Amino acid sequence: MHILVVEDETKVARAVKKGLKAEHYDVTVAATGEEGYFLATTQSFDLIILDLMLPGRHGLEILAALREQDIQTPVLVLTARDAVEDRVEGLDTGTDDYLVKPFAFPELLARIRALTRRGRTDQTLRLKLADLELDCVTRKVIRGMQEISLTAKEHELLEYLMRHQGHVVSREMLAHDVWKVSDRATPLDNVIDVHITRLRRKMDEPFERKLLKTIRGVGFSLTEEEE
Ligand code: CA
Repeated sequence: MHILVVEDETKVARAVKKGLKAEHYDVTVAATGEEGYFLATTQSFDLIILDLMLPGRHGLEILAALREQDIQTPVLVLTARDAVEDRVEGLDTGTDDYLVKPFAFPELLARIRALTRRGRTDQTLRLKLADLELDCVTRKVIRGMQEISLTAKEHELLEYLMRHQGHVVSREMLAHDVWKVSDRATPLDNVIDVHITRLRRKMDEPFERKLLKTIRGVGFSLTEEEE
């Protein structure tokens, strides 16, 4: 997975590069818009992380030029907190997602995962069970007419459960696939149960029909079937 980071702030660029490399991504950094544009049009990337305020050429200009050339690489825009209008404009220009600076690194990783998943044909972008819907790209969760706000982890957890709907998901599976911990010396059962409880409180308890079932001694199952 090769990521192009277009960011003129050396400190930010360096931190992002270091963090992504630790996650086994290949990273190329461009410090100016021109350089970023050149790299994006001459090499193939799986994702572009694009800062908006760049010397020479504004990030959105670059993005528009790329889309005009039919380069459809997913783009994650980095924007300053006060540039709300940029954000709206960015979404029109062909931004796939944006992140407000300063951001927490795990949040960046979650966005990257969601965006790079988009291109994969084996992944469904919109998951549905009964009146529950999860959009993997916009990260919106809707039950009935109500939007449900989840933390990044709860979102990941729900997405995993929805991808395995109708099947029993064990705590081992969640530890391994959602928490990325395969070492059973660090049992995560309590952490998982706490997150399940919080998730259930948001997406199941307020509604008449219960979808998230606890299978005693085994794990959990997201299903329309009654117990
Ligand atoms: Ca900048």
